[in-house]
Amino acid sequence: MPLHIETPLLESRALSLGAKRPIWLKLEALQPPGSFKIRGIGHACTEYVRRGAKRLVSSSGGNAGIAVAYAGRHLQVPVLVVVPETTSARAIELIRQQDAEVRVHGASWQEANALALSLIGETDAMLHPFDDPLLWQGHASMIDEVARTGLKPELVVLSVGGGGLLCGVLEGLHRHGWQDVPVLAVETEGAASLAAAVKAGAPVELPSISSIATSLGARQVCDQAFDWTSRHPIQNLVVSDQAAVDACLRFMDDHRLVVEPACGASLAAIYDHAELLLSYHSILVIVCGGVTATVQQLQHWAQPLPAG
Ligand SMILES: *Cc1c(COP(=O)(O)O)cnc(C)c1O
Repeated sequence: MPLHIETPLLESRALSLGAKRPIWLKLEALQPPGSFKIRGIGHACTEYVRRGAKRLVSSSGGNAGIAVAYAGRHLQVPVLVVVPETTSARAIELIRQQDAEVRVHGASWQEANALALSLIGETDAMLHPFDDPLLWQGHASMIDEVARTGLKPELVVLSVGGGGLLCGVLEGLHRHGWQDVPVLAVETEGAASLAAAVKAGAPVELPSISSIATSLGARQVCDQAFDWTSRHPIQNLVVSDQAAVDACLRFMDDHRLVVEPACGASLAAIYDHAELLLSYHSILVIVCGGVTATVQQLQHWAQPLPAG
């Protein structure tokens, strides 16, 4: 039994009317731990435990850490998540709700990750949030589900952080012979590590992350994500934080679902960029989800900054 669920694929009337073409939503926000991450992480954790891992370790204070904690609880294996001091109380609470041990350490992810790595014993498995072929294999299952419904989209829209979701979706598309289905890869300003890599001709490290879409905040994409850009038609789009947050709030009204700005970025591509969609008839949006932003937080972010 996989740890993820088969998610609904539905046509959004509201988004379709706005874009004047069918917009299909793959509702990964409905995964039990709240994001698509459980597909890849669930697959990887299951495999590591099968190979003998006695404990699972993560250094993500976001949806990846929550997914590892969820996987460990279901596999009956202890989980340690080391998170930096910047992690919200809410994210820590969500990890603890899954019975995982949380250690708060260091000013940034780099330090939390270094401590996690130093604690890894021989029978521990360390779960990377986006750079592991097992993750991509697991994420690809969402495209298997789409293919089984008989829908072949003409464009896939998704968000890119470190590129794990992108690699998984592309693996799924190629598995079904859909090499001809282009992907619109959306990032936010201040977290656009794939757009920077494409511009530089190689993965490059952003000096810092300044977007509120923290789940897109990988300073550098994985090599595999960059490699795909020369093997598959991938178009880059970078939207503002404001556009991503506004899209979250509109989506809440349209679909009664709360998602993070990381996911709102993809939705903003549909709400605000009709011109990019003109040559495609049916469009699939991966509604990647995310649980670390509350409604109140989204509404707060949507307020215009005070002048001065
Ligand atoms: C992790 C995550 C992303 C980005 O996925 P990558 O595999 O890092 O590119 C996007 N949205 C949400 C909600 C996430 O949790």
